[in-house]
Amino acid sequence: MRLLRFVPLLFLLACASTPSAPDAPLAPLAPPAPPVPAAPPVTAATTDPASASVDPACLAHADAKDGAVDKVIARCPNCGLTMDGKPEFSTTLDGYEAHSCSAHCKGALEAEPAAVLARSCNR
Ligand SMILES: [Zn+2]
Repeated sequence: MRLLRFVPLLFLLACASTPSAPDAPLAPLAPPAPPVPAAPPVTAATTDPASASVDPACLAHADAKDGAVDKVIARCPNCGLTMDGKPEFSTTLDGYEAHSCSAHCKGALEAEPAAVLARSCNR
């Protein structure tokens, strides 16, 4: 059966002799994308002095955070309402009594009540 020995060779030759398909023409390049319009300049967050008043929603949130809606914020706002405040470091804010945990936090709260409460607002 010598013929069998040639079968692979024939197969190889058949493959080699197959004309290769011409390379497909390259797809035309897509036209350049139109320039993206420049984003409007981001205006710096305005620190409006008039907005220094404390957000009532934040006060209510802070009030409820200690488990009792009693107009007493028993957690230290400057510590993100994570620390227990002390009555001796109390600050009155729009009818709420906010207890800070320390003289330092009380000072920070009184210096920027709106900012401090806003920080605690989402906690
Ligand atoms: Zn504190």
